[in-house]
Amino acid sequence: PENVVVVGAGQAGSELATTLRQRGWSGGITLIGDEVSPPYQRPPLSKGFLLGKLSREKLYLKPAATYERFNIALRLGTWAETIDRAAKELVVSDGSRLPYDKLVLATGGRARRLTLPGVDVDQLDNLFTLRRIDDVDALRPHFVPGRKLVLIGGGYVGLEIAAVATQLDLDVTVVEAAPRLLARVTGPEVSGFLEDVHRSHGVRFRLAATVADVAVDASGHRVTGVEVSASGVVERLDAGLVLVGIGMEPNTHLASAAGLEVDNGIVVDEFARTSDPDILAIGDCANQPSAYAGRRIRLESAPNAIEHAKVCAATILGRPQASTATPWFWSEQYDLKLQMVGLSAGHDRCITRGGTGTAMSAFYLTGDRIVAADVISRPADFATARQLVTSGRPVDPERLADSEIPLAQAAL
Ligand code: FAD
Repeated sequence: PENVVVVGAGQAGSELATTLRQRGWSGGITLIGDEVSPPYQRPPLSKGFLLGKLSREKLYLKPAATYERFNIALRLGTWAETIDRAAKELVVSDGSRLPYDKLVLATGGRARRLTLPGVDVDQLDNLFTLRRIDDVDALRPHFVPGRKLVLIGGGYVGLEIAAVATQLDLDVTVVEAAPRLLARVTGPEVSGFLEDVHRSHGVRFRLAATVADVAVDASGHRVTGVEVSASGVVERLDAGLVLVGIGMEPNTHLASAAGLEVDNGIVVDEFARTSDPDILAIGDCANQPSAYAGRRIRLESAPNAIEHAKVCAATILGRPQASTATPWFWSEQYDLKLQMVGLSAGHDRCITRGGTGTAMSAFYLTGDRIVAADVISRPADFATARQLVTSGRPVDPERLADSEIPLAQAAL
């Protein structure tokens, strides 16, 4: 029987290991991860878990017993060092060499670090990033009511943290380099809606503002302020806590050191295979061709990690099948449920429903087709929008704009 070795015990790696077994793989499966927690969901780290409403165990993707029952060798706290492609062996941190027939890289990504000239962020005790459960353990004691939190980055993760922090009575200022929130992924209507919601909860924003420097106390280890620069004007924001939420960088080093093609992620084909057919890559670390987008994309979402793991399992089982899934994603801020489907880049118009109060939907059109939608607390709209994006059915823009008409009836 053949051996599958999976590097990265996150959402994608865990899903792959269990799916392989469920679909009848009888060979060896080894799942290697550097984190010590059993494979867990990351999305709650900036939501319910940070808020203290969700226990650690609730984050685990599968009970520990499942890996045993499925005869999956789970090696936690283990770092994969190098791939010996000639010998088809993976070298891990304790020096052992694991032979593989198929190697899967599910290495995800790491939080992008703040770089400021002359500042060593590792020396700062109250400046954090949030990617792992350990990060939350480290920063949670700093979530003290009244503390001034400066959040660098107004993306989804940053906004989720802002929502949790205000609910825990911290004083929150978000610094965002773009002129509006979520500028890369959403339209101005949704950015404005969310900005209003956050402001109504007391969050302050500095938009089109970049971080120029941080002020530290005499010990050199505590940030006391963040200097932001907007339109050439420098302002000092007092800070008792700084959180950097400026995105992630895919973990591609293992792949590039082994000579695999890397370009904004590990380059794979539609069956999750890298430039070496015995090495596959999935999830946040992989740059894949997308049938939906008609181009290569690297997605950072839990649904993609799961979908990509299923594609990879099919390839390993000898029944390769490319994905036709439309990307989707969700977020939670306060009591709002945000659901996004498709990729809005390149749309030519945006039509909204609602938009005042506590719910709205934004539909992004190219010609008369909806290519993407952002739905806030209108779950029925989301189900229909997803069908419309996936099917590519043309819609009547006037009916689409009329909240009185059920969304399904906007289709032609
Ligand atoms: P990861 O989850 O990053 O797992 C990769 C694992 O591999 C990590 O444990 C890493 O340490 C390990 N690893 C890397 N290199 C090595 C090595 N050489 N040796 C051993 N181990 C290694 N998505 C959504 O859809 N909705 C959300 O609301 C949402 N919220 C999020 C909130 C936060 C705070 C974060 C950080 C992410 C969120 N995401 C969300 C994104 C989602 O969590 C990721 O898309 C998903 O976790 C990707 O899974 P993955 O397995 O590809 O990578």
